[in-house]
Amino acid sequence: MTALAQILTRRIAATGPITVADYMAECLLHPEHGYYSTRDPFGAGGDFTTAPEISQMFGELVGLFLAQCWLDQGQPSAFALAEPGPGRGTLMADILRATRHVPGFADAAQVHLIEASPTLRQVQRDRLAGAPVTWLDRIADLPDLPLYLVANEFFDALPIRQFQRDPNGWRERQVGVQDGALTLGLSAPAPLAALDHRLDDTKPGDLVELCPAAPGIVQTIAERIGAHGGVALVIDYGDWHSLGDTLQAQRAHKPEDPLASPGQADLTAHVDFQALAQAATGIAHTEMTPQGVLLERLGITARAQALAEKLSGPALESHIAAHRRLTHPSEMGTLFKTLALYPNQAPCPPGFAQ
Ligand code: SAH
Repeated sequence: MTALAQILTRRIAATGPITVADYMAECLLHPEHGYYSTRDPFGAGGDFTTAPEISQMFGELVGLFLAQCWLDQGQPSAFALAEPGPGRGTLMADILRATRHVPGFADAAQVHLIEASPTLRQVQRDRLAGAPVTWLDRIADLPDLPLYLVANEFFDALPIRQFQRDPNGWRERQVGVQDGALTLGLSAPAPLAALDHRLDDTKPGDLVELCPAAPGIVQTIAERIGAHGGVALVIDYGDWHSLGDTLQAQRAHKPEDPLASPGQADLTAHVDFQALAQAATGIAHTEMTPQGVLLERLGITARAQALAEKLSGPALESHIAAHRRLTHPSEMGTLFKTLALYPNQAPCPPGFAQ
């Protein structure tokens, strides 16, 4: 049993079952034993790999996307270039490198990383050495400036609650203890106004998820963009609605039972893009667009060909595989979705249909 499993088992035995969201929050960010608090989980030797770790092309295209939005909105002379959940700092490093030659962009940018894990803050500090970067605890701490933000695989790490539809309302999935081991159970049914909009597309027995922190985060982003301009690009796996149990644990690149080793495996859930779009009050949002489609429209194939010219042998093969992995429908191209939030009066961001 992991140290965190012992802590949680004792706590639940003493005070009763906890929500899946509480369980997820403890597993990911417990100060001593949390998954992100204690390690750098990325890459071949870690538990999972993200798009910026697959190829520099991802961050380059995101950087040029943000720079094009900045140009389209009149090149504000000071703005926050922000990233919540920046992992190893690779995406921001690639953004900064790709935008170096956009006149005025780097001088106007104030880089802000919103990161909860002290361990990952240090990894980011090393990766971005030399760049003027500020670390923030919360999105709400961002300065009152135009906001150019990217969030890649950030929202999937936010804790979710799970509810099973019942003839008498909704039953919340909870983590309890049975025979000394963590186990899933269901609360008594009760109506829940926050899920009224799911009464039409679900039937008794169906499971739906809510991410309680996401709407507040999106509202804060939308307030900044509404007041000062900018754009937010969200990239993550999920769909317009969430339906079914999408809580998943990943360890050493393999799925495992989310209750098996709390604090030792990554826990994520699919992102409900409709919930994000609805929280962006007062500003516009694009259509949700598959990652592969967006990257193609932003020019990944031309960039891949240019990089390929300097490569041969195994390096060329892995470059071709990385292009395919980011864009192909059977890999990340369709599972991952993108959505951009932007001011009502601004042009539609590049790569998205009008
Ligand atoms: N964007 C990166 C990493 C994604 S993993 C990439 O694409 O490689 C999720 C990241 O979000 C990690 O950096 C994790 O520490 C951070 N994180 C998780 N919950 C957070 C929270 N509540 N506030 C800020 N950062 C958080």
